[in-house]
Amino acid sequence: MMKWLRHHFTRLPWWGKVITVLVGLAGAGCGGFAVLTFYSQSLTNSTRYIRRWFDDRDSRSELATTRRETCFAAPFVLPSNGLIGLLWNDPAAPYNLLKRHSGIDIFGDGQPGTVPVYAAYHGYLTRYDDWLATVIIRHDDPLQSGRTIWTYYTHMASRDGTTSYIADAFPPGTSEVWVSQGTLLGYQGEYSGNSLMPVGLHLHFSIVKSDPDGSFKNESRVGNTLDPSPYLGMDVNIKNKPERPIHCR
Ligand SMILES: [Zn+2]
Repeated sequence: MMKWLRHHFTRLPWWGKVITVLVGLAGAGCGGFAVLTFYSQSLTNSTRYIRRWFDDRDSRSELATTRRETCFAAPFVLPSNGLIGLLWNDPAAPYNLLKRHSGIDIFGDGQPGTVPVYAAYHGYLTRYDDWLATVIIRHDDPLQSGRTIWTYYTHMASRDGTTSYIADAFPPGTSEVWVSQGTLLGYQGEYSGNSLMPVGLHLHFSIVKSDPDGSFKNESRVGNTLDPSPYLGMDVNIKNKPERPIHCR
């Protein structure tokens, strides 16, 4: 086989050699991406639950976590009800091994703008001027005293980005407003930040680390976030591939 290939390759004109090499490299690139995707999917069980949630509405009551109190001694309350679909550090699509999910995605059962989102813990809420769908709350870390952490909530707007579902109490430009645990922050939406690429109805929730200057780190990188499991008292780390629905542990 190799001998045959080499024989034909040497007989190609120079441009034929260039095209052959380029096609070969493109093929290797696609193959590498396919292997990465396939291997990533073997490390997660999330995709099938999310697919079932959207394909079979009757399954929703069996898949949803509905919990409005904290789990035993855990400090945080689950910020919304629904299927906890994508988990922390999850490589499920559209993420992969090289870019893992930084929080948890809670897929609510209802119309956009109707599934409530609550503060997981008390702290100081900020919403920047240009934040249509997002709020962030600063906390003293209840599990490591002296450390500042942040909880981040997003996708709270309509799919086309015309309507924000954030509660009226927190208009754009809100800075460091005290909220208690369980305060209504808004409602789940489908806005991804790009009106041309909406997401399925859910809340993205993450726990973000602080920079040395006290500001929050870029939450889209999983290394800048914390495993929410000990804060929620629920196993939401993909490492253990927990069955859904997820319960208090
Ligand atoms: Zn997410």
